[in-house]
Amino acid sequence: MGHTDVVGVEREKWTVDPFGGVIKDGYLYGRGSGDDKDNAAVTLQILLMLHRQKTPLDRDVIALWESGEEATTSVGIEYMVREHWDKIDSEFAILEGGGIVTEKEKVVYVGVATTEKVPNTTTLIARGTSGHGSMPRPDNPIVHLAAAVAKLAEYQPPMRLNETTRAYFQRLATVSSPEDAFLYTHIEDPVLGPMVQEQLRKTMLSQNSNLRTSISPNIIKGGFRSNVIPGDAEATLDVRALQDEDMTEFYASLRRVINDPSVEVVPPKNPGRPKSAPSRLDSDLFRALERAQAKIFPGAITIPSMLNGATDGAYLRGKGVQAYGVGSYVENGESLAHGNDERVSLEGVGKFLEFVYDAVIDVAGAKN
Ligand SMILES: [Zn+2]
Repeated sequence: MGHTDVVGVEREKWTVDPFGGVIKDGYLYGRGSGDDKDNAAVTLQILLMLHRQKTPLDRDVIALWESGEEATTSVGIEYMVREHWDKIDSEFAILEGGGIVTEKEKVVYVGVATTEKVPNTTTLIARGTSGHGSMPRPDNPIVHLAAAVAKLAEYQPPMRLNETTRAYFQRLATVSSPEDAFLYTHIEDPVLGPMVQEQLRKTMLSQNSNLRTSISPNIIKGGFRSNVIPGDAEATLDVRALQDEDMTEFYASLRRVINDPSVEVVPPKNPGRPKSAPSRLDSDLFRALERAQAKIFPGAITIPSMLNGATDGAYLRGKGVQAYGVGSYVENGESLAHGNDERVSLEGVGKFLEFVYDAVIDVAGAKN
């Protein structure tokens, strides 16, 4: 499957027409070229190949292109799951979320996403007494809110690896520099662990977010004129929870850390995205993806991963589907999705097609 919607553009900052589909120097430029038209195009091409070659199949192969992934899943995957589940009910899914990671034009590893964190937009509301700005008040809500935000910025929820993230760091260590490999293999070390985690927190933002439920204060609102003490102030936290996080206990821990009765912690109102176990590393499809990787990218390895961001895969895993995130080339560790001059390597899309096609035939093709 692939999603056909894209995010907007800052048109004046592009060097080409972002919606022109410009091909230049071996790349296809355009908004959505890497997120998620590579998956959308590969899905279409595989469907056409199976049809034209009349490939005998043991399983149905279903193609799904959907909208709304970037912000309005209610008209996309949520709608499909709710209204048309019978059309897409399946054991396995292949979608966005991974990538074929290259360094100096060589494929180092193929990342396959098996799970993702759960977004929980959380609000802090500080309440005090309004009054004249010429007479400072101890219960000024802006002061209380600022202190609460500062405490949460320092707070690190407990670290916890799962099957996927443990395998991720172990396998990543085998293709990393000795310095990085040391960090990846000592995260859970009883003695060095805390120091290693602190190092990741400062220098490897994505790896750090993989270790724990994360909290990022991203909006702060309070006050309206300089001589008025406002009655309340509000902050919005982007909380990305581990799938197995006990959210009741998590919010209790935030209240303990803030330790201020004038600051209310408000969890998100709607239930949000479904939770699920990570997709398995021993399923027929994961094994097929590993075999396809060995064939198409010999010398590289397959690394399962947990996304810090969110995809439509959460809704499928919530229905019990073993869903795997893949993608075309990620060159020198740099994803261009949502950025200016978003582009994909044409060679990369071709190799990506070969890789997914091989896995699809492996799992769904007739065995005799
Ligand atoms: Zn996407």
